[in-house]
Amino acid sequence: MTLCHGPKEACGVFGVFGHDDAAKLTYFGLYALQHRGQESAGIVTSTGRSVDEHKGMGLVHEVFNESVLNGLHGRLAVGHVRYSTTGLSVAKNVQPFVVSHAGKTLAIGHNGNLTNARRLRRDLERKGSIFQTTMDSEIIVHLLARNLAGGIEEALVKAVTQIEGAYSCVLMTQDRLVAFRDPNGFRPLCLGMLDGAYVVASETCALDLVDAQYLRDVAPGEILMIGEGGLKSINPFPEHKPTLCIFEYIYFARPDSNIFGHNVYAIRKRLGMKLAREYPLEADFAMPFPDSGNYAAIGFCHESGIPLEMGVIRNHYVGRTFIEPVQSMRDFGVKIKLNPVREILNQKRVVIVEDSIIRGTTSKMRIKTLREAGAKEVHMVVSCPPHRYPCFYGIDFPTKGELIACQHSVEEVRNFIGLDSLCYLSLPGMLEATGIQQDGFCLACFDGKYPIQPGEDISKACLEY
Ligand code: 5GP
Ligand code: MG
Repeated sequence: MTLCHGPKEACGVFGVFGHDDAAKLTYFGLYALQHRGQESAGIVTSTGRSVDEHKGMGLVHEVFNESVLNGLHGRLAVGHVRYSTTGLSVAKNVQPFVVSHAGKTLAIGHNGNLTNARRLRRDLERKGSIFQTTMDSEIIVHLLARNLAGGIEEALVKAVTQIEGAYSCVLMTQDRLVAFRDPNGFRPLCLGMLDGAYVVASETCALDLVDAQYLRDVAPGEILMIGEGGLKSINPFPEHKPTLCIFEYIYFARPDSNIFGHNVYAIRKRLGMKLAREYPLEADFAMPFPDSGNYAAIGFCHESGIPLEMGVIRNHYVGRTFIEPVQSMRDFGVKIKLNPVREILNQKRVVIVEDSIIRGTTSKMRIKTLREAGAKEVHMVVSCPPHRYPCFYGIDFPTKGELIACQHSVEEVRNFIGLDSLCYLSLPGMLEATGIQQDGFCLACFDGKYPIQPGEDISKACLEY
């Protein structure tokens, strides 16, 4: 059975150059990035002469142990946690993807999604490339391999100027770590330093865990080459306006991270405050469904004066596979993760502060358990506008047909979920709450304005009803 009815997460990447404990640091970096992908994990290391790798399906702590890490040698490492966005969920699609070409080994970890993948793949196959996986990330490696004769720098420039879409990547050659990010900068990527070694991570929470000092973000469009000679930065793209993914702030990134230069917790709290200003409500208390809704709920209560309570308690030790429950155990999937507190809910008017509604199915089941626990009124405020369009840039939002707000009005969504009232934060309200320059975001999942038009093959499949 599956307990996760939300969309799937994309990926997290981590890399180290010049540290004796490169593999172990990468392990801990991935541990901190686990929220970005729970399907598989992998680490590849290099001594400069030889390359070691270990990858597997499962959580970071399930894939690695001390003895596995001791077998990953070298002062250079890249790692990846994955929840598939393109490509099937199978073991050979686990990243980092490693390839040997003309005696040289490359390993790549990719967060994002290429929007011209099918066309590039078709072209490459016509020219003789043989693909080992169904991942779009493999395309980058093939493009690199074709141009390596002129050196890695030239190959990188040629590769990134052919690919389109979202990519925050770590790449390892035998003696260099390369970090590169698409010119729109959809996904985050940052650079840090630890004991004179360079560290690259999807989010700053990973730098914090390994005690690395944050230096700066890898800039949109930047190729950052890290080697014995230090850092070299190339930006082969013309001046370009970034379109950062706003959903990283709403749901995806960890609240203790600073991404795109701003703290996620603070922004989520301000989203909740904004909600309280847009929708004054009367209620006995407000509550989140932990953990994702916690921070907007804090802001909402702070601003509205409505008391905050935890009307459901989360079990933090839920694994991913279960013995099937017995027939008499109703709403098992919801209750195993979130159990209502009857004494708190009974006869109360409750406001749920939710970060987002995607399919509406999880919310529906959760609201049912609150009513069964005695809640008298259940209202919901959502800290972003309705999700009406699929994402082509690395967050695995369902197709249009599966997005409840795409097919239904807010009133119909309210009715489906079983709420007394439902309010979404306005688009201007959301933008204002971020406190960031307002034209710098990708808002495609809300307004359908795609900063990069996806290839026909992708968009057709996702936009179908
Ligand atoms: P729904 O009611 O749409 O089925 O589920 C809503 C819940 O999904 C919310 O609690 C929200 O926090 C969660 N959610 C939103 N985006 C994602 C995502 O990308 N992955 C997962 N696992 N959950 C998500
Ligand atoms: Mg949630």
